[in-house]
Amino acid sequence: MGGMAPRGFSGPVVLRSGSPAALRLSGADLRVVATARVYTCGITPYDVTHLGHAATFVWADLLASVWRLCDVETVTCRNVTDVDDVLTRAARLRGGDVAQFALEQEYAFDRGMSALRVRRPAYEPRARHFVGAVQQLAAALLAAGRAYVREGFVYFRGTGVVDRCGLSREAALTLSAEFGDDPHDERRDDPFDVAVWRPSGNGEPAWPSPWGPGRPGWHAECAAMALSVLGPSVDVLAGGVDLAFPHHAYQAAMVEAVTSVTPFARVGLHVGEVRQDGAKMAKSTGNLTLVTDLLREHSPAAVRLLLLDRPWHTAWDYDPGDLDRAAGRVEMLYAAAGRSGGAENPATGAVTTALLDDLDVSRAIEVALDGGGAAARLLLRTLALT
Ligand code: ZN
Repeated sequence: MGGMAPRGFSGPVVLRSGSPAALRLSGADLRVVATARVYTCGITPYDVTHLGHAATFVWADLLASVWRLCDVETVTCRNVTDVDDVLTRAARLRGGDVAQFALEQEYAFDRGMSALRVRRPAYEPRARHFVGAVQQLAAALLAAGRAYVREGFVYFRGTGVVDRCGLSREAALTLSAEFGDDPHDERRDDPFDVAVWRPSGNGEPAWPSPWGPGRPGWHAECAAMALSVLGPSVDVLAGGVDLAFPHHAYQAAMVEAVTSVTPFARVGLHVGEVRQDGAKMAKSTGNLTLVTDLLREHSPAAVRLLLLDRPWHTAWDYDPGDLDRAAGRVEMLYAAAGRSGGAENPATGAVTTALLDDLDVSRAIEVALDGGGAAARLLLRTLALT
């Protein structure tokens, strides 16, 4: 008897030394005590992985590595949107079962990610396993008066979401339409209301619900997965810059409406667009470079550094010549790593400082090349280039 530990508590208390790592991200000082939570919006598994996707996932991977370098435990979650109209159409075109088709695509995606040395997230929730959680979210939004039922739909009241993003109504409507929202849907009270739940037509995936058979809306899927896996808030919400609105804005608004915990995400890691021939790299337009194609002729390290040796938030144009330059930088880092210089090398601290300053990889490379030895080895490990 005489145990003083609270019931249910086991194991030693681990005291970490020093103060919390001061990561500066998106203009905010993001100090994390104990555990950092990162939710990354993952793929809709209907087609191959292009350089634009890879950029998002490689940057999210680096963020976690930098935190871990500073002893911050980091819990990562990257969802798979395997209930989605685009996916359903793609599977149908190929004459396959949606779930089977999604699994095949997911497998190809995983192969691409592991080839690029992106660490597997701790959690990889799939939307089709969280349909019940979406229904709970819909019920909670209805109970809170933040949603309404109409003709088998549950609509979330989107008032205020657009203002918070600093977008004009016109710009927001255009963006919503780009992501499949119908601006002429007359059932809604307001064009910025979005479906948490929607009825399914013939051949579309459908689950029973209190509002009739149907399927979740996209933003609600990610809201429900984040809530289920990471709880009412996250430190970083990551994704391509095009997800900032409407997807992340609605995801956050839905979660906040049922938890009263604000903000849902302390900071967004919205990775800059990758362009090709002056236009956004996208599956829908066929204007893309595939990771698997690049890896046939270039090392994973070169492809990784191509993505990381630039500000994470800036849009950029892919030029095949840049890969040779990236490969050259990798070789220079390898050479620098072979120079003498122990762990006390002050440049190791400067590498960490550069990475903590808005993930400034380019500056960290310069520091590592100057200092060499332990500094270069530390950077190669952190960037997963070894
Ligand atoms: Zn998402």
